[in-house]
Amino acid sequence: MANVTSTLDPAAIRQRCDDLNAQAWDVPRSQPARAQALAEEAAALARQIDYGPGLAAALRVLARLRSHAGQYDQALLQSLEALDLAERSQAVGLIPSILNLVANAYRYLGDTSESLDYFRRQEQASQAVDDLLEAAKALIGIGAIYSDTRDYANALTHCERSLGILQQLGQPPYWTGVALNNLCFALFKLNRIDQAIQRGQEALTLARRTQDQRGALRVLNSLSEIYLSGGAIDLALAHLEQAQAVIASLLESGRREPDLENEMMRLRGQAYLKLNQDREALACWQQALDHSDQYKLRGSQYECHQRLAEVYKRLGDYRQALAHHELYESYKDAVFSEESAAKLQNLEVLYRTQAAQKEAEHFASMYEQTRLFNEQLESEVRARTEDLRQAYDQLARLDQAKSNFITITAHELRTPLTVLKGYVQILYNDPGLSADPYKSELLTGILAGSARMHEIINTMLLMVKIDSRTLEIYPQPIELRVLMVKIGEGLKSALEQRRQTLHLDQSLAKLPPVEADLDAVEIVFQKIIENAIKYTPDGGRIEISGRAWNVIPPDLAGRDCPAPAVEILVSDTGIGIDPASLELIFTKFYHTEDAQRHSSSKTSFKGGGPGLGLAIGRGIVEAHHGCLWAESAARDEACCPGSRFHVALPQKQH
Ligand code: ADP
Repeated sequence: MANVTSTLDPAAIRQRCDDLNAQAWDVPRSQPARAQALAEEAAALARQIDYGPGLAAALRVLARLRSHAGQYDQALLQSLEALDLAERSQAVGLIPSILNLVANAYRYLGDTSESLDYFRRQEQASQAVDDLLEAAKALIGIGAIYSDTRDYANALTHCERSLGILQQLGQPPYWTGVALNNLCFALFKLNRIDQAIQRGQEALTLARRTQDQRGALRVLNSLSEIYLSGGAIDLALAHLEQAQAVIASLLESGRREPDLENEMMRLRGQAYLKLNQDREALACWQQALDHSDQYKLRGSQYECHQRLAEVYKRLGDYRQALAHHELYESYKDAVFSEESAAKLQNLEVLYRTQAAQKEAEHFASMYEQTRLFNEQLESEVRARTEDLRQAYDQLARLDQAKSNFITITAHELRTPLTVLKGYVQILYNDPGLSADPYKSELLTGILAGSARMHEIINTMLLMVKIDSRTLEIYPQPIELRVLMVKIGEGLKSALEQRRQTLHLDQSLAKLPPVEADLDAVEIVFQKIIENAIKYTPDGGRIEISGRAWNVIPPDLAGRDCPAPAVEILVSDTGIGIDPASLELIFTKFYHTEDAQRHSSSKTSFKGGGPGLGLAIGRGIVEAHHGCLWAESAARDEACCPGSRFHVALPQKQH
């Protein structure tokens, strides 16, 4: 072989070594010699080129062979060596199965706590490399340890979990057999006998179908133990006969299954004890003890000495009984010493702590992420709020500057305008000038223009007062009908010009008086009625009606209206208002018309104003604790759906 390989390069040797190891690992349990030859060849090649993973894999096969042969101490040493190599050469794929070998060896040698530790490590390692079969094997192992320590409920859950994983893997027969058998045993110990027998039968059928002799032997033992405990000694012995037959056939092909053979011997011993056949029992237990000594099966040695002490006592051989009892005590200490129980406990605690710690770390990192995220969010919100505050301050400053500008400008304009108006009035009253019709017309024009300018300046000053909430009102009882008649009179010529009719409804006559500032309220209605004229085509109709209430009427529910109150409704047959603009029209300088097409007529069709009328109107009404709003189906110059303005004023001012 050396001749063949010496000509190969290291990569090829590694490949060959891997192939040999893979083949060796797959050799069935019944052909140990072949597996041994393949593994030894692989080990030689690996040593030749110092190939760690190759040597680890070869040692893994050899350790398993030792374990199958019942040489558990050697199996342990070899598997620990394999583990060390695999870890050092980072052959992570091998680690779970090697950990399984170590754990099993410890278990057979009676070191439960070490065994559990390695099964736990196997569980984690197989999760790390996503090896489901090894994960299932680890769970089977942990379940077995629980069973050894008489915690059958935990044994059961681990078996069930392992069966779940094996199911996903298409139920590989050997390990499914092991899991079913262990499940059968745990169920039996939990006194669920029928289910236990059913699972046992399943395992037996599976073992027979797949010619898994070890599997058959294992479950035959389990079933005999169940029957033994139920007092069906004949049935138990019949199963043990079958087990004996399997062992014999195994022996024919040179195979041994020391752990199960030993178990079978002990069960037989128990059966004879139950039958009070002390001589047969003695022979069985002695055989089992020799066998346990040969294979260093500590757990079993302990039981054998205990039973032998019992049988010898029954037979009256107290010297032998005492000797076995002493040995039993010494093994008892070794197997179930407080120290080992404490160690087991500690391991469990450590394991659980580790798992809890991992979970805590996971949550901590999630918490940290959320905390960071929140922090970022908060600082973002703080920054945005600050931006907004600055923008708002800026706006407030601009608004203030604008108001100041308007106030100053308006006052500055008002003085020269008053002077201008005064002089024009003197000229107008001069008989020499008024006698000349042409000059008189010019003076009338100047007077009207300056009056309009005055009005605009007053409007601007009023708006500033409303904005700065410094508008003062002087309430007095007002008959709204009288006010409407007065405003109607004032607009007579405009109405005539536009061939519009203004109808004052009967309902106005019945209205109670309201407490309000007459001048201010006049401005409101003046503006609303002027707008009705302005936004209604020639020939249209404007109607003013009213109603009074003590309790807010149902059609106004949800609106913040005063009570008791009087409501004036101004309806027109005009172009209407787009419902989307019904609130916007009350904001300052709002126009639906294009500002470029601005005309300053107060009543000509769609003639625009400064866009302050309704804003001032609402400001005045609100200063009276009333409300002002508009209604319209649409803005449509062709169909003219009309608009309706509502002014609700409280009857009393508090
Ligand atoms: P303006 O000085 O432009 O008349 P207003 O504040 O009085 O300013 O009115 C704001 C806007 O409301 C007007 O430009 C107009 O588009 C709309 N509007 C007011 N009254 C009516 C109405 N009766 N019919 C249709 N639209 C109206």
